Amino acid sequence: MAKLPGKSFLTASLKKWERKLNEARKRHDFYHKESKRPESERQKLAAKWHKKVKEAEYWVFRRRTELARYGPAKPRIITAKQAGIWQSSVFGSLGPEIKATTHYAASPRARNLKEGIRLALQFAAFHRGKGWGTISYAYLIPDTGEIICGRSTSHKAAHVANMNAGNIGINFFCTTGDRPTEAQKKSAQWLIANAHTSAMPKLHRTDRDLRKADIRAHNAWPGQSTGCPGYFTPNNLGV
Ligand SMILES: [Zn+2]
Repeated sequence: MAKLPGKSFLTASLKKWERKLNEARKRHDFYHKESKRPESERQKLAAKWHKKVKEAEYWVFRRRTELARYGPAKPRIITAKQAGIWQSSVFGSLGPEIKATTHYAASPRARNLKEGIRLALQFAAFHRGKGWGTISYAYLIPDTGEIICGRSTSHKAAHVANMNAGNIGINFFCTTGDRPTEAQKKSAQWLIANAHTSAMPKLHRTDRDLRKADIRAHNAWPGQSTGCPGYFTPNNLGV
């Protein structure tokens, strides 16, 4: 297979062709509808710009397809420290990340980052009150797709009954009947592919590639009686 052109080249090229497409569509419309030139000339010019529209459409489609193979773009990442979430090693170390679990919190949706941080801080206080030290989720993703980091990936949590060793909890701020937004899906996909890379701050980086982990909905683990995570299953998130 031919080598894929670099991502920055593709991004720049896509922008260029999107601009050209816009311009060509405008000119095409102009010669069709507004130009005061004689009819035959107008038709010729409209046909010329029609060709350019088709060419630009081809390149925009092609560049988008090529870029899609790189996977979703990196979402904005907010560290626990930036969010005001404290750390706790009350359950000891997490161990190698061989599992990941999707959750809802039976909470309102976080419609944006601000609401996400506010809710995450509430979860952290609630979980501390239960004796879990701090928030039990390693990552939380509001409707707008930012990744709010919670409990460090070094520390074991309490998010699935009897199944927390090596298990990363990902929460989506929602409840029964809610569905993932496109931004949440893309962000979850990016996270699973990149949590172990240097794109993730050290405190929140996994040792293992989560694409090789057993990723399940909370209630898909044995012995769990919960509606969590509703529609926020790995399948629906595309992870
Ligand atoms: Zn859950």
